[in-house]
Amino acid sequence: MNNILDMAKSNYEELITHRRYLHEHAETHIDLPITTKYVMEQLTKMGYEPVEISKSGVLAIVGGKKQGKTFLLRGDMDALPLKEQTGLPFSSKTDNMHACGHDFHTAMLLGAAKILKEKEEEIEGTIKLMFQPGEETLTGAKAMVKAGILKNPDVNAAMMIHVFSGMPIKQGAVIFFGKGAISATSDWFYIDVKGKGGHGAMPNTTVDPLNVAAHIHTALATINSREIDPDQVGVVTVGQMHGGTTGNIIPDSAFLEGTIRTFDDKTRVFINKRVKDISEGIASTFRAKATVKFSNACPSVVNDELVLKSVFKATMKLVGPEKCIDLEALMGKPFRMPGSEDFAFISEKVPSLLLAMDASLYNGQEVYPQHHPKVDFDESVLPTGAAVYANAAIAWLKENK
Ligand SMILES: [Zn+2]
Ligand SMILES: [Zn+2]
Repeated sequence: MNNILDMAKSNYEELITHRRYLHEHAETHIDLPITTKYVMEQLTKMGYEPVEISKSGVLAIVGGKKQGKTFLLRGDMDALPLKEQTGLPFSSKTDNMHACGHDFHTAMLLGAAKILKEKEEEIEGTIKLMFQPGEETLTGAKAMVKAGILKNPDVNAAMMIHVFSGMPIKQGAVIFFGKGAISATSDWFYIDVKGKGGHGAMPNTTVDPLNVAAHIHTALATINSREIDPDQVGVVTVGQMHGGTTGNIIPDSAFLEGTIRTFDDKTRVFINKRVKDISEGIASTFRAKATVKFSNACPSVVNDELVLKSVFKATMKLVGPEKCIDLEALMGKPFRMPGSEDFAFISEKVPSLLLAMDASLYNGQEVYPQHHPKVDFDESVLPTGAAVYANAAIAWLKENK
């Protein structure tokens, strides 16, 4: 058997076994001991020598028999801290749930690993398989880059797939998003407001941090409406505000926490600066002090035009034009995901591509969105996903010798 899609299809039962095992043992963040052990065991069985290069981050290498470049395939493995409510026989046994479909990505990349091992002699270069933890917390890719996944041999291009539920697209289709920034940047901010507490009957003797926090909240909303170019996306959301304990005490301090999403670095840097300046300025106006901290910064995933063209051509050949969707051409404008994706830490270093696959399950019931405790995905797309991964790497290396 030489056809990659047929090879993947003949492996359907095993792909389902992988997916269901991972689904039952859902783990979060970078603490994936059961998942990592399973992935390493499966890869070892196939003849790989997988290495855990960062906490729960697994690298396996295939090819290298023929001279060529190096292509990286990434599959993320972490779940969400969410109690599953699907009622499926293979529901999660933990308090976590694979509600984003990363169990699919891991299973599909294991499927690709099997195909690639069988085709190892034909690979015109080297393929690195990146099994990544901590996508939801935007920490896993960064840790694996730091551990050297892009080095030795140096990675020349990279690709990932994400399954989606409820997309208005033909079921089971492979979706291409066009070139450029396609996922939002993400920064979290934390504002500590320090005032001076006291009796609620004598506010004049205090510096009320709740008053300051309220003004900061209102002022931050004007960054978007008054300071950002209307053509640019700049979302500033305050997701939590805390302060005080009861009605007649003015507290010493208050706290705000929020997120910033944009699609370009200039806007991102500008908003971060304005969140800091506005918070500190308002606090000082009211005789308080604001300390602003940022974390979890994640850039946009940027699709490289050449990798996109190469993988699009190869995928068209593999699955046919019916199941290969150019979303930009379909919508007449570039599509941008409002969420963030930490594959961005790969795409900022090497030419990269993010692919999506529709895996909506239409079983006569409601189709739930991702991150919902009742969402389920269509397992019949698993072979296509495995084949798209393997095929893209082989084709890109052949084309870019
Ligand atoms: Zn997610
Ligand atoms: Zn996800």
